[in-house]
Amino acid sequence: MSGAPGPIEPMTDERRRYLTLAEARALDCNGCGDCCQSSRTDGFWTWGALPRDQYRPFMDGQPLIIPVMRSGDLDGWRDRDWRPGDDSDATPTPFRCSAFRPQEDGRGLCGIHTQERPTKCGEFPVHMIGQDRDVEARGVMHLETSAFPRCTWFRMDAVAAGDPALDPLRGCVDSDGYVVLGELPPSLIDGWARLGGATVPPTPRG
Ligand code: SF4
Ligand code: SF4
Repeated sequence: MSGAPGPIEPMTDERRRYLTLAEARALDCNGCGDCCQSSRTDGFWTWGALPRDQYRPFMDGQPLIIPVMRSGDLDGWRDRDWRPGDDSDATPTPFRCSAFRPQEDGRGLCGIHTQERPTKCGEFPVHMIGQDRDVEARGVMHLETSAFPRCTWFRMDAVAAGDPALDPLRGCVDSDGYVVLGELPPSLIDGWARLGGATVPPTPRG
């Protein structure tokens, strides 16, 4: 979660992309802001394990992360008090962030991007604890971006280094296993068509 300039449109390409975590981590957050406020995903994206102090030390003593609930208000949400249980890992708490700065062009920037922030602000979606281990163990892992069509990492899968999907040719496949002809050099399209135009996308090992 962070902020960088530029208007951002939702991605409409249905295909998935395969890359290593290192390659995914080399990409920049585009600052769409959709992971910084639950209302921007109609409540899908929530905050887990929200501490009772609501990260006040990061916001001059004021609550940083504020639980919200659906309401009949104009924007459909209103603040509520922190309550026992919000601090549980198992509790998905819809939230807004008091450091969030919506932009006129639809982006949303972090007002404390250069300061100390909750750890999870820097984790989503490619710096999560255990992610390397999970990718190595499973071979392929969907990045948790399905609710964020404007996210840099939308419809990307992390695969283990050396996965055949990273091959310059077989990397040009979609998640159904079909070669994306438009991405192949013209000299190779005929060859792939003779082979049936299909290959095998990476599948989880367990
Ligand atoms: S602190 Fe910044 S990155 Fe974290 S939720 Fe708030 S606006 Fe987003
Ligand atoms: S949804 Fe993705 S691109 Fe948008 S602010 Fe969050 S991490 Fe950055």
